[in-house]
Amino acid sequence: MRVLFLYTSTNMCRDGNLWYYDEATAVVVSCLRTVGHTVHFRTVDDRDTYEDIAGWVASHAGERTLLVFMTSLMFSAFGHDLPDTFERVSPLKKTFGFPMAFVGVHATLNPDRAIAYEGIDFIGRGEMEEALVEFCDTLEAGGRMKDIRNFWVKENGTVHRNPLRPLVERLDRLPFPARDLLPTARMANERDHILTVVASRGCPMTCNFCSNPVLRDLYQGKGKYFRLKRVEYLFAEIRAALEADKGIRAIFFQDDVFCLSPGWTRDFLARYPEEVGLPWGCNLLARQASPAFTTALRRSGCRQVQVGIESGSPHLRNVVLNKGISNREIQQVIDACRKADLFVTFYAMTGLPGETRSHLVESIRNLARYRPDMIQIQMWEALEGSGLQESDPATGKDSPVHGPPVRNRRAWRDRFFFR
Ligand code: SF4
Repeated sequence: MRVLFLYTSTNMCRDGNLWYYDEATAVVVSCLRTVGHTVHFRTVDDRDTYEDIAGWVASHAGERTLLVFMTSLMFSAFGHDLPDTFERVSPLKKTFGFPMAFVGVHATLNPDRAIAYEGIDFIGRGEMEEALVEFCDTLEAGGRMKDIRNFWVKENGTVHRNPLRPLVERLDRLPFPARDLLPTARMANERDHILTVVASRGCPMTCNFCSNPVLRDLYQGKGKYFRLKRVEYLFAEIRAALEADKGIRAIFFQDDVFCLSPGWTRDFLARYPEEVGLPWGCNLLARQASPAFTTALRRSGCRQVQVGIESGSPHLRNVVLNKGISNREIQQVIDACRKADLFVTFYAMTGLPGETRSHLVESIRNLARYRPDMIQIQMWEALEGSGLQESDPATGKDSPVHGPPVRNRRAWRDRFFFR
């Protein structure tokens, strides 16, 4: 069967020119291809018209085709302008008559909203490797669709809500990601010849703006939420990717948090220089960055670490976002990275609920005082279904943000620049 993926995500910049590697998507696509389905993959961004999208579908569709509209299958910390994107995607159903599924974090967290979108026949929730393969096999064989776990199925006005299957227990039983199907020329790391790799799934932290705590709750009793690939498997995956692209000159480990397991970390750090040897970077928690640890990273070839500080204001960081990072810990990150000669980037956000002009000034002052090598700032957008939503100024109550995120950006500009 032909499976046409239409991918839209906050992992992609608004102008559509920049895209970030999405490991789970690359693995799902690989699983489908491994069992014999034909897969085509396209990103959908703000610049795409309905005619662009329909033209692509027409040129890739076959007699038996499934359209899969998706957002990131990995973690997300941001909402999305889904209603806007759906306006350009849902007419595909009428034009082509193909079955259409919606999968990803946003469908997982908000299934009632997702299944209600016009043109959508199915939604897929949670991990899709086994679920989407079973789904496509059953659809192709003309089998019974309404009982497939992880899927909600719209049928004659009724919605069948199936439970989630257990989490994939062994990540290294999955095929290597199908990087060749992704738009690498537009991907932030890959276009700079940096290979993005992910060694684990899950995060134990409780930041309330992120999908991870919600997904962890959703999967209670369905297996270990944090899982790691074996070090041998990871090196084999990297070697295969380096073989396919001889131009790669560095690696970025895009795990939500890298090196969470001490035994795995010791093994990885000891073997990496010999097995791979390229300079590398990763995401860390502030609390991981002790001088001994950053020195061990550096010895193994690490050059850069990225840490989610989120705000220089302790109130926004810890009361609003539940990050649990003190000013002292931030200073320790800086000191440990300086000592080990690591380039350090802070992730930060603005436009947060309750953020005032003085919070913003405090945040900028503090972040500047720490002097990281780089600060990557993003506008916060409420991820519907996560623990953090925007307060309704009229009632003071939290209200999920629906609709295009431009509303947030405009609100932010109004708050700080135009009054
Ligand atoms: S550290 Fe916080 S923001 Fe980052 S992935 Fe984990 S829960 Fe999400």
